[in-house]
Amino acid sequence: MTDPHQILRNVFGFNDFRGVQAEVVGRVLAGEHTLAVMPTGAGKSLCYQLPALARAGTALVVSPLIALMHDQIRSAEALGIRAASLTSADSDRAEVERRFRAGELDLLYVAPERANTPGFQRLVSGARLALIAIDEAHCVSEWGHDFRPDYRQLRGLLDRFRDVPRLALTATADQRTREDILDQLGIPAEGLIVAGFDRPNIRYSIRPRDQVGAQLKGLLATVPGPGIVYAPSRDKAERIAEGIAGSGRPARAYHAGLEPQVRQRNQADFVASEEMVMAATVAFGMGIDKPDVRLVAHAGIPKSIESYYQETGRAGRDGDPAEAVLFWSASDFANARRRIETEVPAERQAGERERLNALAALVETAGCRRAVLLRHFGETPPETCGNCDNCLEPPQTIDVTEVARKLLSAAFRTEM
Ligand code: ADP
Ligand code: MG
Repeated sequence: MTDPHQILRNVFGFNDFRGVQAEVVGRVLAGEHTLAVMPTGAGKSLCYQLPALARAGTALVVSPLIALMHDQIRSAEALGIRAASLTSADSDRAEVERRFRAGELDLLYVAPERANTPGFQRLVSGARLALIAIDEAHCVSEWGHDFRPDYRQLRGLLDRFRDVPRLALTATADQRTREDILDQLGIPAEGLIVAGFDRPNIRYSIRPRDQVGAQLKGLLATVPGPGIVYAPSRDKAERIAEGIAGSGRPARAYHAGLEPQVRQRNQADFVASEEMVMAATVAFGMGIDKPDVRLVAHAGIPKSIESYYQETGRAGRDGDPAEAVLFWSASDFANARRRIETEVPAERQAGERERLNALAALVETAGCRRAVLLRHFGETPPETCGNCDNCLEPPQTIDVTEVARKLLSAAFRTEM
């Protein structure tokens, strides 16, 4: 069975490819290198899972997070795809290697650190590979928001398999990051495929923060469906969850400081609920498939426009109306600037500052929020979207020079 449409229907249960999927899959099947920039929820996994079945050999999938790999493997296995990972968390590594050598795997997930080891290179040398997928490929670039040096070294592995199609995938890469990824991974410029980034059903609002607990309660009273509140720290995530639960709305917390069992239970409760609010740090969200999230709120600024887009993108995956509300304060920006100066290596400070400034421009604009977001991702949007705070209620901007002129002339008049 190698007809892609047949695999799409019989294995994945979908009637049609979505958006650029057909184009991406087509390139991989033709053996061409590709960088696919597709927003969260656009269906990136299928772009390598389907060719893994259609082409002879195993697909290597480089992925940065063990939890993410295990989620992917579970959903692939549910479709009857033979998938496994080689990570420090897998105790059955010898068995996985045996299955790989025997050609019994469609997908082999591996972290970049392991992909670059001599042991792994020995394992794959001479093997028949269907393709090499590099997920979260923005990690390759210093311009990306999550640079991982091990990603950069993947080039060695890739160049041992020059004839195997490379598929780099990311949800978040601005123009410069895209060029850098192409360059670092040896993908030709015509291999870049960018999906539309607009999420028209998400209403973006950005408001000054004062009493965030009260602001959130007010907001949640108007949005009865499942919601996520991103908090700037573990502590605040806990307090926000308590505050919301105290007002009678089911709520849980999620952050890396919780016991794994507690984290998993809270996540499962949230996924099953039609009204629960998850107060979380950014540790929450990757790999969670919950299409009916009606609200994503930020109790403080995210790291960058890329993070904002990715986090708000967890709202309204079902296409029904959803809200994204960010509460910000000038102190958020001051703290972020201080963090850049004290915690970020000198050579990366300029890039981080630029990212923060782009976020400030989104927060401060009196124009369409969506237009700022989409331009950031290289699209040319209309000037107004009709579904963000500034389009729905244009802010009363004060012409400062006009005010100053009137004050001055009044001052002169009283003196005379
Ligand atoms: P991404 O990695 O881009 O965030 P996923 O690969 O996790 O997205 O896919 C998001 C959701 O879209 C999944 O539930 C997946 O089953 C679904 N999906 C993917 N491709 C299609 C398609 N062609 N038709 C319908 N649903 C799809
Ligand atoms: Mg994905």
